[in-house]
Amino acid sequence: MGNSIKKRIEILARYQRLELDIARTRRQVDEVGPRLDALAQGLRGYEQAVEDGAARITDLKKRYRESEREVQANLAKIAKSQDKLRLVKTNKEYRSSLKEIEDMEAANSDIEDSMLAMLEEVDAAETALVRAKADCERESREISAEQVVVSADADVFREALARLEEDLKVVSGQVDPGLMNKYLLVREKQADGIGLAGVKKAVCQGCYVNIRPQLFNDMHRWDAIYNCPNCQRIIYWDESGEKEEKVED
Ligand SMILES: [Zn+2]
Repeated sequence: MGNSIKKRIEILARYQRLELDIARTRRQVDEVGPRLDALAQGLRGYEQAVEDGAARITDLKKRYRESEREVQANLAKIAKSQDKLRLVKTNKEYRSSLKEIEDMEAANSDIEDSMLAMLEEVDAAETALVRAKADCERESREISAEQVVVSADADVFREALARLEEDLKVVSGQVDPGLMNKYLLVREKQADGIGLAGVKKAVCQGCYVNIRPQLFNDMHRWDAIYNCPNCQRIIYWDESGEKEEKVED
């Protein structure tokens, strides 16, 4: 007849624990990729801030040089107009040329104001860029350290998974075939994939419903395979924490 009921249940419990551990460890292995992606993505944000800051400075400096050229061009025009001013014959021409000169001087003054503002913006952008670079370097160091940890975790998870799968192979050969069939049928109907549940102090640990005292007492004899009347899981008396206690009818 082989193993006693108690022994058979114990082996099945070991099998179920291994299966649950394997599922959990597989999830941990699966999370490694997304965790590494998230870290890389986090660093990308800091790198982008540095790139944006540098691009902004380049753009400001380009606009500054354009303004400089515009001012030079206007000064050339003013000089030409001043030459013309000396040659004009009529009052009207004189006033018109003078107006041209004044307009261009006013334009240059506006441009020079905006150039001063640009210099201030460049200053502020350069300060921000220094900070962004420092943030990026710090973050890069932290993320590199984190990547090392995640990769080391991944190795641990993968090794653990390989070991658990080896153990499962061994234990699945030890489970009583009839009990295994029952277990698989019951487990199919459970959303949590748990087909075997201990009963602690007359409470089914699968569904947390009380087991009738008579049934609970019968279970103490380990002379049959029982199912929880509520959740249908295969149940067994889990002695932990109640060694000497006995539930009375
Ligand atoms: Zn139950």
